[in-house]
Amino acid sequence: MAQANVIDGKAFSEKLVQTVAAEAKTIKAAIGREPALAVVLVGEDPASAVYVRNKIERTTTAGMCSIEHRLPATTDQATLLSLIAEMNADDTVDGILVQLPLPDQIDEDAVINAITPEKDVDGFHVVNAGLLATGQDSLVPCTPYGCLLLLRGQLGSLSGLNAVVVGRSNIVGKPMAQLLLRESCTVTIAHSRTKDLAAVCANADILVAAVGRPEMITGDYVKRGATVIDVGINRVPAPERGEGKFRLTGDVDYVSAAAKAGAITPVPGGVGPMTIACLLRNTAVAAARRFKVSIGDI
Ligand code: NDP
Repeated sequence: MAQANVIDGKAFSEKLVQTVAAEAKTIKAAIGREPALAVVLVGEDPASAVYVRNKIERTTTAGMCSIEHRLPATTDQATLLSLIAEMNADDTVDGILVQLPLPDQIDEDAVINAITPEKDVDGFHVVNAGLLATGQDSLVPCTPYGCLLLLRGQLGSLSGLNAVVVGRSNIVGKPMAQLLLRESCTVTIAHSRTKDLAAVCANADILVAAVGRPEMITGDYVKRGATVIDVGINRVPAPERGEGKFRLTGDVDYVSAAAKAGAITPVPGGVGPMTIACLLRNTAVAAARRFKVSIGDI
């Protein structure tokens, strides 16, 4: 039986969306229109289509304007770059998100870095990555930002805590580590070459798993009382639900980890809903900064 406090990312994200909706109203009153998020989907990847649909629905819920561009899988890089240039120049677009992954003929880095940093609501542009790394104001990648808000909600001050981030991707692991460092945690970044990963993790007051390997982080990796944030979203076969059925699971083995953790995020219902809520927050921040509207900090 799980002992840990279950961190309810769904409830937390709903509150955040309400806060963002109030910010959107303030911005609308100041600039005469709703903040607008443009989402670009290239091709028909089914998982991407679901993410994009969810993003569009939530954008509208938060009282923002959603602009959608659907391009065929055969789209070439020049066409996508020219759409981005148009949106960069369009004063009525506040945030631009290009759904990843992109088809093979398109260079993802070139696309990400073509988005003007002020509208880069995914926070992946090298300028935003550099601003975060040097402790300056930036648009912060949504998933790690969501993890940070959950951690602050659970623990209050994170100062002095040992944090271990498993995973070093540009979209989750590295920015997560930067954010935890900014909170004055002592941060370790682990990855596939880390020796004795279980021992490294067992030293963590905060353990963030962003590995992409279903249920890899078991209770043996968890220090008693630690706060465990499971970023992973893995679709695994679930024959017990019927032939050809799947279920979603995290990078953490929930049952064994929850038996030792002080608090833990579930999958689904943990980090996932926070990612979209933080995207909306970034859109509000991007609009507020461009038009110099004060919306305060979270
Ligand atoms: P990547 O595949 O880009 O990165 C995975 C990282 O895990 C790499 O740094 C890799 O190390 C490390 N790793 C892989 N295997 C091991 C291992 N055996 N031991 C230790 N480290 C290992 O994944 P992402 O960062 O994009 O995503 C991570 C997870 O988060 C996925 O499950 C993804 O689906 C999920 N995700 C969830 C989101 C959400 O909204 N909740 C948003 C984004 C991602 P190395 O660098 O050495 O190869």
